[in-house]
Amino acid sequence: MRFLVTCQAVRPPEQSMPGDRVLFQPELDTADDTTVAASLCEVRPHVIISATTPSSAVLRAWRDAMGAEPIAVVRIGPSRQPEKRGLPSMEAEPQHARLPFDVPLFSVSGPSSGAGAPADPEEAVLFRALAIAERFVQEHRAKRDRATAVAPRSDGERESVLVVGAGVVNLVTAHTLLTNGYRVTLMDAGPDPRENRPWNHYGCSRGGGNARMFTLTEMDDYHPRHTDDADSNLVFDRSPEQLGWDIRRDPAAVAGDQAWVQDFKSPPRWLTHAYNHDIFGLNRRSGDLWKEWMKEQPHIFDGLHVRHDILRLYQDEADLAASRHRQDAIGATLALFGPDAVRERFPALARARHDAFAGAIMVRGFTLDVHRFMTELVDLLEAGGAELRFGQRAERILRDSADVTGVLTESGVFHRDHYVFSPGVDGGTLLGDTGLAGQVHGVLGCWTTIPNTTQPLQNSLKVARRGHIAADANVTVGEDESGRPALMIGSGYGWTGADPRNIDERKLESIHAAVADTVELLFPDIYQSIGGREGLRRTEKYCVRPWTASNLGIFQTARAVSGAFVVTGGHNTGGFAQSPVIAEAVLHALRGRHHPMHTLYHPSRMRRALGAVPDSLPA
Ligand SMILES: Cc1cc2nc3c(=O)[nH]c(=O)nc-3n(C[C@H](O)[C@H](O)[C@H](O)COP(=O)(O)OP(=O)(O)OC[C@H]3O[C@@H](n4cnc5c(N)ncnc54)[C@H](O)[C@@H]3O)c2cc1C
Repeated sequence: MRFLVTCQAVRPPEQSMPGDRVLFQPELDTADDTTVAASLCEVRPHVIISATTPSSAVLRAWRDAMGAEPIAVVRIGPSRQPEKRGLPSMEAEPQHARLPFDVPLFSVSGPSSGAGAPADPEEAVLFRALAIAERFVQEHRAKRDRATAVAPRSDGERESVLVVGAGVVNLVTAHTLLTNGYRVTLMDAGPDPRENRPWNHYGCSRGGGNARMFTLTEMDDYHPRHTDDADSNLVFDRSPEQLGWDIRRDPAAVAGDQAWVQDFKSPPRWLTHAYNHDIFGLNRRSGDLWKEWMKEQPHIFDGLHVRHDILRLYQDEADLAASRHRQDAIGATLALFGPDAVRERFPALARARHDAFAGAIMVRGFTLDVHRFMTELVDLLEAGGAELRFGQRAERILRDSADVTGVLTESGVFHRDHYVFSPGVDGGTLLGDTGLAGQVHGVLGCWTTIPNTTQPLQNSLKVARRGHIAADANVTVGEDESGRPALMIGSGYGWTGADPRNIDERKLESIHAAVADTVELLFPDIYQSIGGREGLRRTEKYCVRPWTASNLGIFQTARAVSGAFVVTGGHNTGGFAQSPVIAEAVLHALRGRHHPMHTLYHPSRMRRALGAVPDSLPA
């Protein structure tokens, strides 16, 4: 993929352009047609980012030079007013017009004011144009790949699907598939979530605390957002004590760990800004789907302690200001509170330490009891006739040349029309021949539970503590496992590398201690009443989130003999939040239809955008 910027109005950013993927030739802005055409034939860019529209003669020469490759023009308009962009969307930017030789024209009219847009207006407009260019070429590639999908069966039988992995992502998918007429078999190596086994027998969704949150930023991009934010590019090189994430006991245990970190560091800032926009677009779509689901089937959510409207607390003023901009830009803000107003309006926080928060933003979102939610979904699947196979591990994917023919387990081979895998952090060996082995790493987070009785908190919280090990904490209002009113606190990032069991107990302890420190900061009375840190230990646990180097999720499709083979996963801090839109994307894949997630979470997205830069990504 190659982009040529011929616009004098934007200059190359100093640090963010790798290799030769984005070329700058501003002199072409005022050059004659012959010079421009010669340059395009030599450079062979897929997209020109320009202040002017190329002439027909130039377009003809460029079109001929590119053969079957997609080409487009992104025109940067003269306006220096911030461009009023809508809320982040998962949909591609609409084309402004079609130029001669069927070349699409997109238009960007001025600096972008979107969530996380760079402060420098020239950089913002360039990043926006590059994001449009990248999406255009990626969509074209996705369309080309789609042509190979197997047509759904036409013999009138209900199509069958084997769903492997019964975490929250695949449970929502399995429920969606069942209600859309598929015959579902659900398989998980772990126990039935209804059995209430010890937390460490389960995957991430059932193994952690019984609380999850949806907000419009729940899944996020964790690359540096600004050039002066370089420290966040080093999180995998530092231990929690150094405010990093590396929690591995044996750093040499898995050979590919460092290549994965390199992949994390590889993408230029324009691309990670595009990732951020796309992740937020998918969060938004998921939010709409959650809303519809709660409206159409309220009985599913009745006993799940659903709490709407999340109070985001910020300890640091600069952090609060930056977040205000971000929350406003995505339409999440409901209200703002100064520190005194927080204590007054939310009595449960009245006794928080004097420096606990500089202010707060009430945002759209909700929390619920994820363990009961999973139980409810398994009940619904069973009642709807799904075949449940808990305690059964998928050992190997069987193929006939490239097409998937079945899944091998200890008790035999399962043949179905379709296969949908979402194995969390445990898919390593299983996904060996999919090109995805080693792509999903673990980032653990810690949990603890405290009573919510004396002056009960009513709204769930998101707590930001810049420069603290527990930098982001979710505090969820609900019930503990015994049905008593409680607050579930989940926080911290501990990178395990590809092996989710490669955990240094001492480093893990430092994250638990940081979570305890947040409890003491916000709820000093409760902290004392339960016996301080020792009291908290009784409810401490952790779970390991699936995470990718790109910070995007994974959505991979391949052919099965009589249907589709789909792998999803790696949704970092938002697997629960995005589960409805993931289910929607799976349904589209099984029906042979396109969904934006297929392109945006394509595991080769970064390789395609940057050429051969990161070595460990699937081609
Ligand atoms: C502290 C913390 C707080 C979080 N808070 C939030 C939040 O508020 N909102 C949010 O959206 N997200 C949150 N997350 C992230 C979220 O929990 C995860 O993204 C999500 O649970 C991942 O679900 P999953 O279904 O992909 O994986 P899992 O829940 O891990 O499920 C994968 C399943 O696959 C099974 N499996 C694996 N291999 C095989 C095999 N070979 N055969 C059969 N089965 C197999 C496993 O047994 C497991 O049950 C949080 C994470 C942490 C750590």
